Amino acid sequence: MEDRIASICLEKYAMLKKTGKPTENEWTVLSGVVLQNIYEDLSVVALCTGTKCLSGKELNSPNIIDRGDRLSDSHAEVLARRAFLRFLYDQIELLLKSGDSDVFYMEDKKIRLKDISFHFFSSQTPCGDCSIIPKLQLRTDRKRPKLDNEPIQESDFGAIITDIYRTGAKCLVNDERQDSQQKGADYHITGPIRTKPGRGDRTQSLSCSDKIARWNVLGAQGALLSLMIPSIRFESITIGGGCPYSSESMNRGIYMRFDPKIQGPVIKQSKISFDCKKSHSRTRPCPTSIVWCAVLEKEVEIAVNGFRQGMTKKKIKSRRLAISRKEIFKTFLKVSHLYSELRNESLSNHPKKIYYHDCKQYALSYQNTWRDYLTTFRNWPLKNRDLYECLSF
Ligand SMILES: [Zn+2]
Repeated sequence: MEDRIASICLEKYAMLKKTGKPTENEWTVLSGVVLQNIYEDLSVVALCTGTKCLSGKELNSPNIIDRGDRLSDSHAEVLARRAFLRFLYDQIELLLKSGDSDVFYMEDKKIRLKDISFHFFSSQTPCGDCSIIPKLQLRTDRKRPKLDNEPIQESDFGAIITDIYRTGAKCLVNDERQDSQQKGADYHITGPIRTKPGRGDRTQSLSCSDKIARWNVLGAQGALLSLMIPSIRFESITIGGGCPYSSESMNRGIYMRFDPKIQGPVIKQSKISFDCKKSHSRTRPCPTSIVWCAVLEKEVEIAVNGFRQGMTKKKIKSRRLAISRKEIFKTFLKVSHLYSELRNESLSNHPKKIYYHDCKQYALSYQNTWRDYLTTFRNWPLKNRDLYECLSF
C-alpha cells in the first residue's frame, strides 16, 4: 500500500507543469493527500511542494497589514493540508449544488462521509520530533577478536546508537525541557513541541511533527469545517524512500510522546523515493511552492514567500493564495451560507461583520476535544485573538 501511495503522488507530480518545480541543484519536499474509495482505487486530491517558513521578523514587516493574507508556513505538509481543505470545500459545494460528490452525501440534511479513507504522503520525514532519529552502528566493541571458525553470535549484530539525525526545529522558549546540544546521541531531547527554523531567525510556526500530531487527534478538517462535516483523520502516513526514517521516531512524534493510548495512523516508509529530494547534487532549498488540489477552478497555484508568484506589485488581494487564511475563510462563509439555506436556517440574525476567531469558537465540540487534549499536548501555544481581529467580512 505505501508503495502504491508514493507512486501515485510521484506520478501526479511528474504530470504537473515545470513552473515552480526545483532547478537542477535545488531540492524540495513533496506532500499529498490520497483518497481511497470503496473499491480501493486511489486518487491524489491534494499535492504540494515546499521548504520555507517565514520568521517572526519577516511576518511583522510593515508591508503586511493582515496575516490572513500571507502564508507563514510553506512546508509541503502544511500546504498539502490546506490544499486538502480547499478540496473538501469544493466537494461540499458540489454536493449542495448538484448532490454529486466523491466524498460526501446528504442524510437528514446533514453532510456525511462516504465509505472512503484518506492517506497522507510526504517525501521525507516531517521536521521536529519525528526527525530525531538514532544513527545505528554495528557493534565494534568486542573484547577480543574472533578466532577462526568461531561461530558468529547474535550479539555481534546488536546495534549501538552513536549519534542522531537532528532537526532544525527548536523547543519553545517557555518550555522547561530544552535540548542539551551535547555531542552525539544526546544532542536533542524527545517529546516537546518545537518551532520551525526560519532564515536565521526563530519562526512562530510549529514543526510539522507537532501539526500532524494535532490533525491526528482533532481531524485534518480543522475547526471551521467541523461545523459542517464529520472529522477526517488520515488513515495512514507514508514517507518516501531514501531519507532518514525510523518507525519508532515516527510513532513517537505523531502520538506516543503525548499519550500512547491515542490511536495513531498506520505509518510506513515506501521504497520509492522522490527525485528532487536533498542530495549531493541538490543542495539549495527551492524557494517556490506548487500548490495543487483536485478542484474545478484554479487547481494549480505557484507560491513564493507566502504569496502568489509574480504578483509583487499588485494589490494584496490579487497576491493572496486560494489557500491563504483569508481566502479559505471566504470560502467557508460562502459554503456555510449555502448549507444554512439548504437546512432552511434563518440567516437574519447573523451579525453584520463575521469574525474568523468567533467562527472558530462556534465549533464547540472541536474546541472541547482540543481543551481535553491540552494537558497532554503540554505547552501548546494558544493563538492570540488579536492576531485575527482584523480577519472579518
Ligand atoms: Zn516541516
